[in-house]
Amino acid sequence: MKLEQSKQKLLLDLATALRLKDAKLATKESPEQVALDKAIAEQTRLRDAAAAAQMAVDDMESEILRIQADERKLRLRKKDGQDALGAETDEDRRRDLTHDIYTSKSRIADLMSELQEAHNEVHALRNNRDLSQSRVKDAERKVTEARDAVAAATVRAGEVEDPSVLIARLEEELPADVIAEFREQRIENGIGAALFNGRSCGGCAMVLPANGIAEIRNTPANEVPHCPECGSYLIRDIS
Ligand SMILES: [Zn+2]
Repeated sequence: MKLEQSKQKLLLDLATALRLKDAKLATKESPEQVALDKAIAEQTRLRDAAAAAQMAVDDMESEILRIQADERKLRLRKKDGQDALGAETDEDRRRDLTHDIYTSKSRIADLMSELQEAHNEVHALRNNRDLSQSRVKDAERKVTEARDAVAAATVRAGEVEDPSVLIARLEEELPADVIAEFREQRIENGIGAALFNGRSCGGCAMVLPANGIAEIRNTPANEVPHCPECGSYLIRDIS
């Protein structure tokens, strides 16, 4: 492959950028993102649980209000009955009123024990709701931390130039026939171009035989030699 010496380093940069891009694609889902997704899922689950716990409290509070309203009605009825009994002389009516007062009293007693039970239950339900809400707060804090971690990781990743941009720029600077030959070689061995350090190939890491090294050294400066082992284009004399 013919390529003026001043541009040979670009070919090596291109091979490096392509390798970096492949590595980035392979790790598209960063561990920070995985942790964030998990934290958000947990937050959603705990928020649903807290909403259900709040709903249970609301239901029990309505139940208490209903019992209290019933109790008021019955106390009124009992009082009306007692008032009427005081003024009633008819024996049959008195018996009916006495029975009615007795029924009201016994239903009030039932309601009082129902109310006591409901108060105990609402107390337990409120504790459960408070616990659920504090779990939600923990989960929200974890989501915030996970988001910060993703942001920090994104900033770190951004400090390295986006390989796609770099690749496009390098491909523009290199002749089309060189790009074509390089790509063909890259398809063949997955490397394309590598650094030659004077002894070994940076692509396959093989220490080359003496005659291979001599051949590389004797290749004219405006040509790019191949690695005799893996076929990669070898870039010499980088400084
Ligand atoms: Zn090689």
